[in-house]
Amino acid sequence: MTVKINDGCIGCGACASICEEVFTVDDVATVNEAAVEANMDCVKEAAESCPVGVIEIE
Ligand code: SF4
Repeated sequence: MTVKINDGCIGCGACASICEEVFTVDDVATVNEAAVEANMDCVKEAAESCPVGVIEIE
C-alpha cells in the first residue's frame, strides 16, 4: 500500500490531526511511508476527510 499526496494540498492539517503517525504538515502534507501499513484505518479516514481530496491510496 502506497500513500501519495497529489498536487493541491492546502496545508489544512486535517490529515495530521486524524493520523499523526503517518501525516506531517508544514506547508503541505508529507507521508511517513514506514508507518502506513500499521495505520491503514486512519489513513483511509484522513483520505476521506481531506477537503481537497489529494490523498491517494494505491
Ligand atoms: S487534509 Fe488534505 S489538504 Fe489538508 S493537509 Fe492533509 S493532504 Fe493537505
